[in-house]
Amino acid sequence: MNILLKALLSVLPIISLLFLQSCDSNDGIKLAEKLQQIKHSQHSYSKIKELRTTHLHLELDVNFDNNTIYGVARHKVENLKNVDTAIFDIKYLNIQKVTVGQHKEKETDYVIGKTDSILGAPLFVSIDSTVEYINIYYNTTEQCEAFDWLKPELTEGKEHPFLYSQGQTILTRTWIPVQDTPENRITYSADVKVPKDYLALMSAENPTSKNATGEYHFEMKQPIPAYLIALAVGNLEYRSLGTNCGVYSEPELIDKAASEFVDLEKMIHAAEKLYGAYSWEQYDIIVLPYSFPFGGMENPRLTFANPTLITGDRSLVSVIAHELAHSWSGNLVTNASWNDFWLNEGFTVYFENRIMEELYGKEVADILAVIEYQELRRTLNSIEKEDTKLKLNLSERSPDEGMTDIAYIKGAYFLRTLEATVGRQKFDNFLRKYFQDHAFTTLTTEDFLVYLDKNLLKPNKVTFNTTEWVYQAGVPINCINIDSKRLDEIEDLAKNVGKGKKLKEFKKIKRSDYTTQEWMSFIRNLPPGIDAKTMKLIDQVLDFKNCGNSEIMCEWYMLSINRGYTLMRPSMEKFLNKVGRLKYLEPIYERLVDSHYESDYDLAVRIFNSAKSNYHPIAQKSIESIIYKKQSL
Ligand SMILES: [Zn+2]
Repeated sequence: MNILLKALLSVLPIISLLFLQSCDSNDGIKLAEKLQQIKHSQHSYSKIKELRTTHLHLELDVNFDNNTIYGVARHKVENLKNVDTAIFDIKYLNIQKVTVGQHKEKETDYVIGKTDSILGAPLFVSIDSTVEYINIYYNTTEQCEAFDWLKPELTEGKEHPFLYSQGQTILTRTWIPVQDTPENRITYSADVKVPKDYLALMSAENPTSKNATGEYHFEMKQPIPAYLIALAVGNLEYRSLGTNCGVYSEPELIDKAASEFVDLEKMIHAAEKLYGAYSWEQYDIIVLPYSFPFGGMENPRLTFANPTLITGDRSLVSVIAHELAHSWSGNLVTNASWNDFWLNEGFTVYFENRIMEELYGKEVADILAVIEYQELRRTLNSIEKEDTKLKLNLSERSPDEGMTDIAYIKGAYFLRTLEATVGRQKFDNFLRKYFQDHAFTTLTTEDFLVYLDKNLLKPNKVTFNTTEWVYQAGVPINCINIDSKRLDEIEDLAKNVGKGKKLKEFKKIKRSDYTTQEWMSFIRNLPPGIDAKTMKLIDQVLDFKNCGNSEIMCEWYMLSINRGYTLMRPSMEKFLNKVGRLKYLEPIYERLVDSHYESDYDLAVRIFNSAKSNYHPIAQKSIESIIYKKQSL
C-alpha cells in the first residue's frame, strides 16, 4: 500500500476502511484525487457525462430469513470520455467484489469513499477504457432505507412476510449499486429468486401468477431513471381490469381492490385522449400493506398503491388518476434534478385533475382543486419562504425535503393559470406536443421555460409572469380562483353547526349524504375554537373518529388535538398503529407535538414507540425528527 493511500485512510471513516481494497500506486493516486473532488451536485456522485450505465441486469436472491438480498448488479456502460474510473452511488450496501467483462469476468480494484448521511458514498471502480461490463457483487444490510420487510402480522393475510421497495428520491442506492440520478435513463432486466409460494413483481413486464420454482425474469425495455426501479414480493394475486390493465393484491383484498379500481381502463382512455398514446404497454396497480408511506408511487407499468385508497365508494381514486398521469409527466418526461421536482409533480396534479374531469365531470374536478388549494394555503403558512419557490435549491439537503405541496399544488395552479390565459384548446395542444417532443428524456426547469416561451407564449403573443411563478416565493396574485358551490354549502353547514334550530336539522344528516371531500371541507371549516362538547355531538351523529375513511379520520384527529377532545384518542392510536402513510402521520404527529396539552406530546411519544416498527424506514425517520425537534428545544 502506498503512502498516499495511507494518508487517505487516515481521513476516511472506519466504515470505508472495512471496504478499502488494495490498489497499485497509480490507481491509488487517481482514486485519491477523485475522492477529493467529490461534488454533491445532483445528489449523485456519478459523473454520467463521462461514463454512464445504459443497461442494468440484476440477479437478486430475496431472503426472508435474514431480511437480506444477495445480488449482482451487471452494468453495461458507455465510456464517453475514456475515463479509467467508473463511479456508482451506494448507501449501506455491503460490497463483496467487483469484476469486469461479460462472459469472462476478471476481478478489479475498487474504493468506497466517505459516507455522507444523505448521499451515501461513491463507489470508485478501476477500469480500462475498453471495459463494457462492470459487475458488482453485493448484499443489502439492515440499514437499507428503500426496503420495508414486513412481518406476516402486518399483512392482510397475516401468514406470509412481505417486501416492497421505495426508490424515490435517492433510495435505490440503498438496495442496488447504481448511478442514482434522474438525469440518466437506463433499461433493465432482472432474474429474481424468491421463496416458493411468493410472487415477485417489478416496475417491468410482470408475471400474473406464481410459478413452482420461485424464479422470475423481468424486462424493462423502455429507459427509465434509477429511482423508478422497484420490487415487491409477497403472497399476491392478479385480477385483470381490461385489455392492458389490472390489479395485484393479497388474495384477501383482491375483490375490494378490483371493485374500487373498476374504472381503470376508462381512465387510461381518458388520459390518452388528452395527451397522446400510453407508452408503457401495460398498466397495473399493486395494493401494498398499510405501512406504505405514500398514497401511490408511479413505478412504471406497476403503480404501488396504499390500501387506504380502498374506501368502498371510489372517493379516493384521484390518486390512481395521479399515478397514471405520471406515465407521461415524470416517467416519460422526467425532472433532470430534484430541484426541478415540480416538473414531475405540478404537471401530474394538473393532468390528474383533467382525467377526473373527463371521467366524473367538472363539479367533481373543481371540488378536488379547491381542496388542494386549502392544503396549499396551509403549507404556505408552515414552511420556509425560500421553499415556496417552484425551482428549489436542495444542495446539501435531502431531496425529500422538496416533496411539499409547492411542487404539487403550486405547480398545478401555475399550469391552470396558464391554461386560463391562453385557452384550453391551445394549452392542450401545447402539452401534447411537449410530451411528444420530450418522450424518454429529462428536463430542467430552464429547459421547460425556453420551450414554453417558444411554443406557447410567443406564438400566441401572450405575456405571462412566468419568472415570478417559478423563481419567487408564495403564490402570485394572478393565480386562478376555482369555486365549488357544493363546498360553499358544506362550509355554511360547518360554520353553523350546533347553533340553535340548525341543531335539529344537523342531527338528521347521514355521512352518506356527502362525499369524502365535502366532509374534509366541513371539518376544515368548523369554528377554530370548537369545544370538546360540540365535537362529541358531531361524532354522535357522524362517527368521524371510527368512520374507516382515512382522509376524514385524519382531518378529524388533527382538529381534535389541542381541543381537549380526548374521546377520540383510542381510535387515533389504532389508526397511527395501523397506517404508515406520511400524508396522515406527519400532520397528526406534528399537531400532537405542538399541542399546548403536555399529555398530547407524551401520547405522541408513546404511540410512536409502539407503532414505529410498523412504519417504512422513510416514515420512521420523518416522525423521529418531528418528535426530536421538540426534545431538542
Ligand atoms: Zn406524484
